[in-house]
Amino acid sequence: GLSISSVTKRFGETEVLKGVTLDVADAEFVSLVGPSGCGKSTLLRIIAGLEDPTSGDIAIDGKAVTGTRAADRNLSMVFQSYALYPHLTVAENIAVPLRMRSLSAVQRLPLIGPFLPGAKEQRSEIATAVQSATEMLEIGPLLDRKPGQLSGGQRQRVALGRALVRDPAAFLLDEPLSNLDAKLRVQTRAEIAQLHRRLKATFIYVTHDQVEAMTMSDRIAVMMGGEILQCDAPSVIYEDPSNIRVAEFIGSPK
Ligand code: ATP
Ligand code: MG
Repeated sequence: GLSISSVTKRFGETEVLKGVTLDVADAEFVSLVGPSGCGKSTLLRIIAGLEDPTSGDIAIDGKAVTGTRAADRNLSMVFQSYALYPHLTVAENIAVPLRMRSLSAVQRLPLIGPFLPGAKEQRSEIATAVQSATEMLEIGPLLDRKPGQLSGGQRQRVALGRALVRDPAAFLLDEPLSNLDAKLRVQTRAEIAQLHRRLKATFIYVTHDQVEAMTMSDRIAVMMGGEILQCDAPSVIYEDPSNIRVAEFIGSPK
């Protein structure tokens, strides 16, 4: 599970996170919703280790990770900007986390280049994982392309594929479906829900789509102005919002 304790974040004069505390249990699916600019991506980036909090602590599976590098946190992330390696093919991009995991920290650096020779069985294991991720996301025909030759939605699917081939302590997904067309969006949403059930993985899922949050989540965290105002089961958030701002945002009946 993930434990976020009293996390604050200041950019210059502005306090973007004002003391966020949130515990996400093993295998729990928590959606994070709230108006644009309320601090959702910043919180996810801090959990991922891409940004340091101004104060507060993050623990993963009971271990404090504040101050450690993103690569050492064993989290799978998909962000609004996809951060694919431009010089690697789609297949190589998806395989990166798998190849990282099987190598020591010292060996990691040269990986950001062409495929390294590896143990045979390890290579076939990676190929199988890449294969199943690409079938699910319908990117099989794109495996030999470079990210520059893909559409936005295709890039997003590659980033999603790269996140899904791993077995991380938690998935952090920041609007992973926002660039997909309606059909693929519904389909991928179902795949993520199924993955959650099958892997019993822990998820924090940022979305602007309330239907998505209502249907996929064990709990929904409603964030506003750098604070989590309420974190409860979808039915509780909807039927028993803790204050008027939550009710207005969710559109609860009065
Ligand atoms: P959206 O739903 O639009 O993605 P968000 O909830 O993810 O919004 P954040 O990206 O976390 O919002 O941003 C929260 C606030 O912090 C915003 O006001 C943003 O302008 C500010 N902010 C984010 N990153 C930085 C930065 N590096 N420097 C200064 N301000 C920043
Ligand atoms: Mg954001």
